[in-house]
Amino acid sequence: MQDKQATERPEADTTMQLEGIHHVTCITGDAPGNVDFYTRILGLRLVKKTVNQDDPTVYHLFYADEQGSAGADITFFEYPGARGGRAGAGMVHSVAFRVASEDALDFWEERLTGEGIAVRREPGRLRLEDPEGLGLELAVSRVPDEPLVALHPEIPTDVALRGFDGVRAFSADPERSRRLLEEVLGFTPGGGADWEVRGAARGGLYGYDPPPAAAGVPGAGTVHHVAWASTMDEHEAWQRRVAGAGLRPTPVIDRFWFRSVYFREPSGVLFELATLGPGFAIDEDPEHLGESLILPPAFEHLRSQIEPVLTPLQDPRAAWAR
Ligand code: ZN
Repeated sequence: MQDKQATERPEADTTMQLEGIHHVTCITGDAPGNVDFYTRILGLRLVKKTVNQDDPTVYHLFYADEQGSAGADITFFEYPGARGGRAGAGMVHSVAFRVASEDALDFWEERLTGEGIAVRREPGRLRLEDPEGLGLELAVSRVPDEPLVALHPEIPTDVALRGFDGVRAFSADPERSRRLLEEVLGFTPGGGADWEVRGAARGGLYGYDPPPAAAGVPGAGTVHHVAWASTMDEHEAWQRRVAGAGLRPTPVIDRFWFRSVYFREPSGVLFELATLGPGFAIDEDPEHLGESLILPPAFEHLRSQIEPVLTPLQDPRAAWAR
């Protein structure tokens, strides 16, 4: 009986584990300001400058560690001049990055304050907003995961951001999501409305807070979706497992640098399952990630139409070299 089940339903294999957060995708109305904040101020590396594959007239900017790793990758769709949104029920409202120590929080408190950015210090945590109001946290973390660090001339590597710690969303009824998170996606309950999802190499945290009274408004400074990381081999089985749970996932979509499946979880947050490969170095020299506009092969024939309508962006690394 056991064997028969295993043969017919490989997607029920309980040994599959998601490898924490793959990327978090957000919306900006101001690509130049966005590049300045995430690279010059926060010290991430712009690892891919491309376009939204569902709307190739707008940028899709990817910031991460030096290697462009999943687990450190915050990305933005740019809708130039987009009005500011606000997070509400069914939306991620804050994104936390790991740092190594309270000393690192001292560094960031001073650096961000010096840039005119308001911060709130708590034990083990520094809260701030990006220039468009996106909630960010720097959290002291002692997990053994490999630190995912980008190089920056003003930010010593021992205080630099080390990849995602987790994301938090708003939900009036987190219990609605519990079965999906625990029984389908393999998240481990951490008490209350908090979970950890951990694979062989990395983990990440996910939690819900009670929503504000006002409804959410998508727009600049809001999170569009959070992607959880899957190995290449298990990705299609994850898609079948989510479908089997009645969540109506998309088919596997080839995003060229990774493959994606999207579905909305019961609290309303848009989830993606994304593969840990092929990765951003597939079409660019790792030394020069993010320096020029990269179009996936299926979009290359549109380059002459796309390039003139995109907001010109300063390459932050070129500025440091000067
Ligand atoms: Zn995504």
